[in-house]
Amino acid sequence: MRRILIIGSKGQVGTALIRALEESPDVELVVSSDIKDPSPDDHSHYIRLDATSAEEIRKTLVVHGINEVYLMAAMLSATAERNPMKAWDLNMTSLFNVLELGREGLVDRIFWPSSIAVYGHHAQIIKTPQHETLQPTTVYGISKVSGELWCNYYHEKHGVDVRSVRYPGLIGSRSLPGGGTTDYAVHIFHAALEKGHFSCFLSPDRRLPMMHMNDAIRATMELMAAPPENLSVRTSYNIQAMSFDPQTLAAEIQRHIPEFTIEYLPDHRDLIAADWPDSIDDRQAREDWHWRPSVDLTSLVDLMLTDLKIKDLL
Ligand code: NAD
Repeated sequence: MRRILIIGSKGQVGTALIRALEESPDVELVVSSDIKDPSPDDHSHYIRLDATSAEEIRKTLVVHGINEVYLMAAMLSATAERNPMKAWDLNMTSLFNVLELGREGLVDRIFWPSSIAVYGHHAQIIKTPQHETLQPTTVYGISKVSGELWCNYYHEKHGVDVRSVRYPGLIGSRSLPGGGTTDYAVHIFHAALEKGHFSCFLSPDRRLPMMHMNDAIRATMELMAAPPENLSVRTSYNIQAMSFDPQTLAAEIQRHIPEFTIEYLPDHRDLIAADWPDSIDDRQAREDWHWRPSVDLTSLVDLMLTDLKIKDLL
């Protein structure tokens, strides 16, 4: 039976991952953890844990008999540009801690997400290939490329079963995003429902790959369930669901809320996004572990507006 530790569980992805893992029939225990202090509405197996402390993670693995780790703690793209050294320290130290514990045999399987921030401006931007030039110009992108290479190294040299996908911008209703370049695509829904107006920090035509959280969680679970011999990529898999720009998303929201208005005030995040791809070639993930997205732009907007309205009523 699987006994799981999520590190960074109070973030956008971790929050959604807890429930999905707990609903899996072969999962016996999910321990959630974050640097944030416990609060009354926490998951029942929540502990405070610092991802940069190898000893704290080791102790948790031993005490709870953990055999699978999901490392979600990280500093995201926009915040990392303001704190380069802190971002590097968190993003790399936490990964090394988990990879080393994998090398020691304390954990059987590890999930660590990379990002579409890895490519940089030398990459082909339309249908960016799986094996592409990776020359990012952001601290976050550099940490993700380095992380991918270290994952591959630990797998090749030490047989550590670490698996990864390059998430695109993720959109879900359960929690707010934590300082990334695609955060606008979550905030726009809250603003549309609460104020009927949104001020967007990206240009109207800044088209980026995006994914509903349900698909991101399913991709994560399906990759982690795949037989190891099927996996040909041990850096990180490209995955694609949909691509859109802010003006297209706004128009789709206006089909539900005709009075919704949007203005564009591009800031430094628009420059970060300028180096990111338009769309991703995910054929390798489709071949190796049968990845298929299920949420397109129309259903994404339906889901987000419905879920946020329900949340508001509760
Ligand atoms: P987030 O910022 O919402 O959450 C990160 C969590 O890590 C936060 O709850 C934070 O408190 C916690 N954390 C920070 N420092 C910690 C520490 N020292 N110890 C323990 N916890 C700590 O991030 P997210 O959106 O949930 O992203 C999860 C992963 O997915 C990250 O690796 C991120 O790079 C990647 N990713 C996310 C997106 C996206 O759109 N959200 C896109 C691409 C990749």
